[in-house]
Amino acid sequence: MRFPVKKFFSYYKPYLTIFLTVLACAIIVSALTLVFPLLVRYITKDVLEGDLSTALGEVYWIGGLMLVLAVIQNIGNCFVDYKGHEIGARMESDMRRELFTHMQKLSFSFYDKEKTGQLMSRITNDLLLLSELYHHGPEDYIKYLVRFLGAFVILFFINAPLTITVFCFLPFLGVFSLYFNKKLNKALRENKERIGDINAQVEDSLSGIRVVKSFANEHVEIEKFNRENKRFLDSRKKTYKAEAYFYNGIETFIQLITITVIIFGSTRIVNNTLDLADLITFILYINYVIEPIQKLTHMTTQFQEGITGFQRFMEIMNLEPAIKDKPNAKTLQEVQGEIEFKKVSFRYNDDLDNVLVNLSLRVQQGEYVALVGPSGAGKTTLCSLIPRFYDVTVGDVLLDGINVRDIELQSLRKTIGIVQQDVYLFSGTVMENIRYGNPAASDEEIIAVATYANAHEFIMSLPKGYHSEIGQQGVKLSGGQKQRLSIARVFLKNPPVLILDEATSALDNESESIVKESLESLAKGRTTIVIAHRLSTIRNAGRIIVLTEDGIVEQGTHDALLARDGAYAHLYSKQFEYQT
Ligand code: ADP
Ligand code: MG
Repeated sequence: MRFPVKKFFSYYKPYLTIFLTVLACAIIVSALTLVFPLLVRYITKDVLEGDLSTALGEVYWIGGLMLVLAVIQNIGNCFVDYKGHEIGARMESDMRRELFTHMQKLSFSFYDKEKTGQLMSRITNDLLLLSELYHHGPEDYIKYLVRFLGAFVILFFINAPLTITVFCFLPFLGVFSLYFNKKLNKALRENKERIGDINAQVEDSLSGIRVVKSFANEHVEIEKFNRENKRFLDSRKKTYKAEAYFYNGIETFIQLITITVIIFGSTRIVNNTLDLADLITFILYINYVIEPIQKLTHMTTQFQEGITGFQRFMEIMNLEPAIKDKPNAKTLQEVQGEIEFKKVSFRYNDDLDNVLVNLSLRVQQGEYVALVGPSGAGKTTLCSLIPRFYDVTVGDVLLDGINVRDIELQSLRKTIGIVQQDVYLFSGTVMENIRYGNPAASDEEIIAVATYANAHEFIMSLPKGYHSEIGQQGVKLSGGQKQRLSIARVFLKNPPVLILDEATSALDNESESIVKESLESLAKGRTTIVIAHRLSTIRNAGRIIVLTEDGIVEQGTHDALLARDGAYAHLYSKQFEYQT
């Protein structure tokens, strides 16, 4: 990937004034530091070698001047350090916000591929050093450039041949730096990927900790973790090796230059072409030439980490959501809830086989249809095409006769309620979780929907009622209780179209009958597609649709399909009989 320069600098925009102020301040401070060796030279050469009776008075004056300069310098540096870092942190925070916002927009197909731990790593670790880069980057380069060029000019005036000798070393230093920077960059990139792998591994093991323990497979998880941890360690070792060669190589150059100056300078003193004060000044200034190189290379790691973090940030930012609004997308007003699949074929991606082939189906407004069929037939997939979790590969899905691709996503998804087997509740209170269905709802409305969903009673028996915390650190709810909360949430959303995807499959008989009751009242007056394998749920469906790998093979009422003695009768005898 080419480095996206324009995008990189665009984050300065909101802070440009303060940033330029910091930059100006850094330049002034840096220029002031150049004055010190000159004052030393003046003292050693002009004052102490002149009339000694007046010398001390002059030295006091110059000492005072140096003190004033030092105070100005330190106040300036203080401002640069504080404000500069603050700007950097603000920019980093802007980017983090942008990344999270963008991730929220990316489609299911993206999340099918990515590991949560890796993504978390991108949001947290990757951006961490960008603030340093944003702030130190331009500031240090300019600051040290001023110092470097200033010192160069001054050195040149003090002694041209000696200066040229020093500068002969610099191209070698440059080539050396570039070579090791490249190595370091590669190693740092690998580090980031490895830490992402560790995050993904930890996320996986900890989310599944109950499974781990039930299989007594802690050692398996530890082994998997150790493998990732070792890979990270190896990558870190590579980084430190590159760093060690790099920094000490630079150090060698610096010593070489200093030794050369001392030898060369002494020769010139012996030849009477240089005086001692000038050599001392020269050696003082040598640092001003070398220090920038040393400082900048020392900060290379930090910068490189920021740069690789930025590149990984851009990899995600450059992804377009697979599913998004058309420019002229329609906002739905009154929704009737008629759904039609027209010759729909679908596959998850081009490397996979079709899950659905040339399927047509029409569900009337307010109809209650049951979708049955063997597991893996594509029932869930079919339903996920209505809210456009995925787009059809061929054909059309229509809602009230409008192609779902032409409907604004927000308004499309607001018309469809989904209750699944797995309920996800967010950390927060019961009240907050139900309110997720409609953030504008009042407390009274929430209590009303909880009552419809048969949840009010058990909620009131929780230690803090509606204000009980749920989720990781909160109260533990049973499967049936969680499901009733998720039903209350959908009640509040009040969608004209409802999809119940094996909503009661995981429940025991007792919870099932309570949840079933809640679901029946939820389904009233809404177009409902229920995917179920419990006979009790589908027997009174207006129409039962049988979906197998061959598509829709039968449809009709329970009695009519049994009488046909076809696929449904077969499924029924295999799966449902024992439940009746
Ligand atoms: P059902 O709900 O009828 O049990 P699904 O719709 O879940 O079946 O799955 C249908 C087929 O699509 C299965 O072969 C399944 O492996 C595949 N599938 C489901 N989800 C994905 C996905 N996100 N990516 C790729 N393949 C998938
Ligand atoms: Mg399914």
